[in-house]
Amino acid sequence: VDFRALGLAEPLLKAIEESGYTTPTPIQAQAIPLALERKDLMAGAQTGTGKTAAFSLPILHTLLPLASTSTSPAKHPIRALVLAPTRELAIQVYDNIKTYAKHTPLRSLVVYGGVDIKTQTPILKTGVEILVATPGRLLDHVEQKTLSLNQVQFLVLDEADRMLDMGFMPDLKRILALLPKQRQNLMFSATFSDEIKKLADAFLNQPTLIEV
Ligand code: AMP
Repeated sequence: VDFRALGLAEPLLKAIEESGYTTPTPIQAQAIPLALERKDLMAGAQTGTGKTAAFSLPILHTLLPLASTSTSPAKHPIRALVLAPTRELAIQVYDNIKTYAKHTPLRSLVVYGGVDIKTQTPILKTGVEILVATPGRLLDHVEQKTLSLNQVQFLVLDEADRMLDMGFMPDLKRILALLPKQRQNLMFSATFSDEIKKLADAFLNQPTLIEV
């Protein structure tokens, strides 16, 4: 299997090729076709398996027809929300998404705590389709009304087990309440505890299980 056979759009294939990827990793080969079929996924995958591309590429592919060159923020609502436990992971995911999206008009941004929230708001105001965030800072922005989640079509929970270990369950529940019910959910976790299964029950809709 190569990336072309997975049915990804040309601008994404170009970015993948420029990144030097030739073959999808096992998690990518399994997750990408299922995600493109709009299935919810619960995937067991460690860092280093290529999980970031496994969720980013199908999201970018699906959002591509929606991308507009308009500068009106109303035309660039947040369509995909990626939640990550730490600032480091959030930045890493964002850097990957930016790389994969470089030949598309899709816009992305990362927000995390520990920096002045005001520096993050001007870009949010210009509108981004893909937002990568740590849970606490995302809620800060919601409270300050600097972003809206009412058009989110994709939710990704990356390193979900670490988010639970770090005590993010209450924040995650508050975020869940702000999201449209109709959406696709992709959850990645290195481990599957009872707590993770509870999280999956709360967030996912009849997920397909993937383990690599
Ligand atoms: P991740 O598990 O998402 O953190 O990815 C680990 C590393 O593998 C990153 O540096 C990616 O750029 C790289 N990577 C992801 N997918 C592929 C692929 N199909 N072929 C080669 N490298 C990849």
